[in-house]
Amino acid sequence: MPELFIDGAWTAARDGGVREIRCPADGTLVATVDEAGARDVEAAVLAARNAFDRGPWPRTPAAERAALLSRVAGLIEREKDALARSESLDTGKRLVESEYDIADVVRCFRHFAALTAAEDGGRVVDTGDPEIDSRVVREPAGVCALITPWNYPLLQTAWKVAPALGAGTTFVLKPSELTPHTAILLMRLLAEAGLPAGVANLVLGAGVSVGAPLTEDPRVDLVSFTGGLATGRRVMAAAAPTVKKVALELGGKNPNIVFADADVETAVDYALTAVFLHSGQVCSAGARLLVQDELHDRFVDAVVAGARAIRLGGPFDPAARTGPLISAAHRDKVEAYVAAGIAEGAVLRCGGARPDDPALADGFYYPPTVLDECTPDMSVVEEESFGPVLTVERFRDEDEAVTLANDTVYGLAGAVWSGDVGRARRVASRLRAGTVWINDFHPYVPQAEWGGMKQSGIGRELGPAGLAEYQETKHLWHNLAPRPQGWFA
Ligand code: NAD
Repeated sequence: MPELFIDGAWTAARDGGVREIRCPADGTLVATVDEAGARDVEAAVLAARNAFDRGPWPRTPAAERAALLSRVAGLIEREKDALARSESLDTGKRLVESEYDIADVVRCFRHFAALTAAEDGGRVVDTGDPEIDSRVVREPAGVCALITPWNYPLLQTAWKVAPALGAGTTFVLKPSELTPHTAILLMRLLAEAGLPAGVANLVLGAGVSVGAPLTEDPRVDLVSFTGGLATGRRVMAAAAPTVKKVALELGGKNPNIVFADADVETAVDYALTAVFLHSGQVCSAGARLLVQDELHDRFVDAVVAGARAIRLGGPFDPAARTGPLISAAHRDKVEAYVAAGIAEGAVLRCGGARPDDPALADGFYYPPTVLDECTPDMSVVEEESFGPVLTVERFRDEDEAVTLANDTVYGLAGAVWSGDVGRARRVASRLRAGTVWINDFHPYVPQAEWGGMKQSGIGRELGPAGLAEYQETKHLWHNLAPRPQGWFA
């Protein structure tokens, strides 16, 4: 069965393009999928445009759109095992992590179903004139290009697809070329749930050949992009000539601040998951550990011991605690950051070399790595390595902790660990980040907005704002008793 989904039909790439998808854990061939070309992108945009301008979906009552989202949530739940397995094969992540992700996808669809069901007819504006009906209504934002990354393939897709459908938009989805399978499965479920043809379209392929044309196309009204900062800048520039709405979820270089009065055992435990979960391939990874001077030695020793004990392995290895990096190129990049950090004066405490276990030889593995005595000007501290690399910096007091934490172009997330509630709240309020955890790391709920300050992005996903991203407001002014004004009489 072909894998491009355009105007309600599964089609092969018109120019015959294909791409092999290989599991990063061992290089085995997962499948060969269709790779879209310019003509496929053109057909998909046209289908989405027609469905928006002439199709029923944007004019379908919100209650019916909400019901469809609920049906999709149910279908995802039905297919959760196949989806989790597919996600693990594409990404190499542990099956249990994929299972969590798919459960989150279901929650995301339910959240946007509830929000959509609660949509009202807009806000009545009191003009003071009983013969004027003035109201502000929300309408779907038009044709959307949804472009997603490979680290949480279906989850990041759900954060866009669910609100886009709830708002009544139509879209062309382009998942990462490395991890297309759960997007393909999702399209099948959307069709099964009864979504009209042309509303959801799927094109597979590389960023430059398939993503970029979507961001430039004048028939696209909105681009919602999740990915790296450099790509985000290109997306924004490409969208500028046609003044598209852009929503950007970009990277992070997130501080994890630990004061000496924290619960040390718990903070060590969380510092490990903060950065090494999914081998650091998490936008909100706590990759910069900031430790108060007097706690530094004890804390870092404990983190290093914990990092050394993390076992690497493939998605279906029950003893593994984290998996491979996504690709050979990505592992090269992570290695280069570690080498640069050491050259700039960081002290390598553990990791820092590919594992020599022959069982891991065919995968893109890289071990949890801790670099101590780091300084803010090092490239490994400033830039997102997106790998299992923790940099450690010391601070003396609250002011220095906040200065170091905010000394980054990013502003996605961060955490503060302290037994002093006042201090924790003070520091949290001074962090320039879209999400701040106190005595915790990583949790999120679909009811709360997610997104970045500074160069971590524009706009918010999830929460009520996540639906509003896909809506335009319109002021409707209705004169109930029109008569000549006589202004020029
Ligand atoms: P990436 O920027 O390389 O690619 C993201 C997507 O953009 C892919 O689908 C890719 O094919 C496409 N793309 C590439 N070039 C393009 C272009 N010129 N025009 C249009 N599309 C293009 O990112 P990645 O490596 O897939 O993902 C990792 C990055 O994503 C990290 O920086 C991570 O922090 C970020 N991320 C952010 C969040 C968040 O919520 N803020 C969530 C997940 C990942």
